[in-house]
Amino acid sequence: MSDDRSTQLRTGLGAVRDRIARAVDDAGRDPADVRLVVVTKYFPVDDVRRLIELGVTDIGENKDQEAGAKVAELSDAERAAVAVHFIGQLQSNKAGHVAGYADVVHSVDRIKIAHALGRGAQRAERRLEVLLQVDLDGSDPGRGGVLPADLLALADAVDEQEALELRGVMAVAPRGQDPAAAFERLGECARSVREHVPGASWISAGMSGDLEQAIAAGATHVRVGSAILGTRPGL
Ligand SMILES: *Cc1c(COP(=O)(O)O)cnc(C)c1O
Repeated sequence: MSDDRSTQLRTGLGAVRDRIARAVDDAGRDPADVRLVVVTKYFPVDDVRRLIELGVTDIGENKDQEAGAKVAELSDAERAAVAVHFIGQLQSNKAGHVAGYADVVHSVDRIKIAHALGRGAQRAERRLEVLLQVDLDGSDPGRGGVLPADLLALADAVDEQEALELRGVMAVAPRGQDPAAAFERLGECARSVREHVPGASWISAGMSGDLEQAIAAGATHVRVGSAILGTRPGL
């Protein structure tokens, strides 16, 4: 598939990769330590196919129904070429389904979700990599996330699940606040989780508008949608 849309995506991808490379360089970090997750939510599966052809290895989705349907449409070869990251809010009744197709889940924020995801993964005979979503704000519970005070108990709950591998933490910068300060707080949360569960070293932070600040604060995964794919179509 090579058409105008592919050209658009190639341009967007190139611009974002340049931004990441500059931010990594400014932070004196190793380029191999920052992964780009391209957020394809609300965009059609053909865009996922185009992105795979352009060398994208990680895609992010945030709605269970949409994500599951899209992943099911990929050919075996396409599916094998990408890791599917689930980055949206999870309900415990959906977690079992997500466990059937996601490779990485960034948004575990309650013990109940950890249990449901662990059971679902076991049932599907799959292993999932898991990040704990941290609420850096506390004033906007609608956006999800575990409060820092409850983080280690949640880390234990994930660690106890045989089918789940705890990899680290994730956050969305709170609205209307300095993202750099928020990502510094996330870095502290990441350190406490890593001391508690060795190997849990990933930090998922940074989107189209704040990936530079996230990389400066140690992000290992940036989740970028609109800067690559354009304005999201309505639902
Ligand atoms: C949609 C979404 C993104 C991507 O946002 P953009 O601003 O389009 O880059 C990143 N993270 C999460 C959790 C999202 O839901």
